[in-house]
Amino acid sequence: MTEQLSLALPAPPENDPDLLVPARMVNEWVYCPRLAYLEWVEGSWAASADTEEGKRIHARVDAGRGTLPPPEETDEAPPFEVRSIELSSERLGLVAKMDVIEGDDGILTPIDFKKGKRPHVEGGAYEPEKVQLCAQALVLEDNGYRVGDGFLWFSGSRERVSVAFDEDLRARTREAASGLRLAAAARRIPPPLDNSRKCAKCSLLPICLPDEVNLFRRGGPPRTPPPAADSAMPLYVQQPGARVGKKGDLLVITAEHEPDREVPIGEVSELVLSGPVSLSTPALHALVREEIPIAWMSSGFWFIAPPAAGGRAARMRARRNMRCAATPSAGCCSPATSSGRSCATSAPSCAGTGGRPKPSATMPPKR
Ligand code: SF4
Repeated sequence: MTEQLSLALPAPPENDPDLLVPARMVNEWVYCPRLAYLEWVEGSWAASADTEEGKRIHARVDAGRGTLPPPEETDEAPPFEVRSIELSSERLGLVAKMDVIEGDDGILTPIDFKKGKRPHVEGGAYEPEKVQLCAQALVLEDNGYRVGDGFLWFSGSRERVSVAFDEDLRARTREAASGLRLAAAARRIPPPLDNSRKCAKCSLLPICLPDEVNLFRRGGPPRTPPPAADSAMPLYVQQPGARVGKKGDLLVITAEHEPDREVPIGEVSELVLSGPVSLSTPALHALVREEIPIAWMSSGFWFIAPPAAGGRAARMRARRNMRCAATPSAGCCSPATSSGRSCATSAPSCAGTGGRPKPSATMPPKR
């Protein structure tokens, strides 16, 4: 039996504001049509480390609102930058929330913020991100503005990638928006991706059940989903005299005779300061807010102080250790602890066997 070819069918204009496709969903449709359908049509949502990081990146840009001058005034207007603008086009059936729009000499440049680093692929960006930005440009043009190229801003590597809105990209964008609206109108959920690495990182994996659905569709054993990868790494600073400060979302490490190093806070799983290294208060606040543990070590990597952050459990443990240090009779150095389980206390007044015992009045002097 020959397979029936499909005919690309543009969706009709939309005048119901609830049925305008957000540009972000056009991105999702290109990434995985089923993901866009589940989120936009069925309202399914599950937060993940990635979505939370995306929210954090957008929080600052969303805070600064502006007003876009009317199209007929942009030619005369001085260069401007506005943030967090929402525009729609019923003709295209699209609504777009734009992070930043720069305007100069009557030409508008949309800029979309992305978390993470610029991908090392041809053109410097993946197709879903380019399509999302192009959807913003189409909406701007449909509202009477003139648009030049757009930019993607990758906060992880602090790089701008230029995106040209050529005819091919415009056609792919219109096709993706139509595809999602037609699937929504027909209440036809797209099939899951097949054996795709995207599913391992997808927050809707437990709702979508790609392998299980594919098993019933075609037969074949489901895969065991791998645990989500955490790209954050420990950061060790051990150069004597070095200083860890903060600039925006970056930790800045300065040391004598060395160029400054910048590390995105989102890419640090824990900070280890070894020896005479200082940490600025703004950096300390940012790390504590992000619940990134900080450990202080001696130059020889002897443990000096427990992590300053690390979530509720770590904070409770630190508080318990401080109580124990203040009143050793409080019982924190219980027989269980003293019999071999590790105790994080290294307070000078704690004589428990878990921490490094320090000489005190109650301990016999060294021979
Ligand atoms: S689990 Fe895979 S198929 Fe399902 S929505 Fe996510 S990316 Fe798409």
